[in-house]
Amino acid sequence: MAGQARSLKQRTATLTVLPPCDLCKMESPLSIPQTARYDAPIAGNGWAYLCLYHYIAYAVGRGTKLIAESGAVEREIVSARQRLAEEGA
Ligand SMILES: [Zn+2]
Repeated sequence: MAGQARSLKQRTATLTVLPPCDLCKMESPLSIPQTARYDAPIAGNGWAYLCLYHYIAYAVGRGTKLIAESGAVEREIVSARQRLAEEGA
């Protein structure tokens, strides 16, 4: 029973930067795509990065939930500021 409960749990992957949604890019190539929240299988198309909207609408399997590494964005801002400071010096 415990093993079954574990297998039903959503798989997750922690990334430094979340990728853009593949279906947003396909549907409106000229717009800025939503941030992908899942890497999941879609019908006839293998796997794709999906925003929450496209995951609910198109995912045919549970897939992997993508989680932004906590503090990743803040660290990038800090290092960008450090680069600017060094270049300005
Ligand atoms: Zn999307």
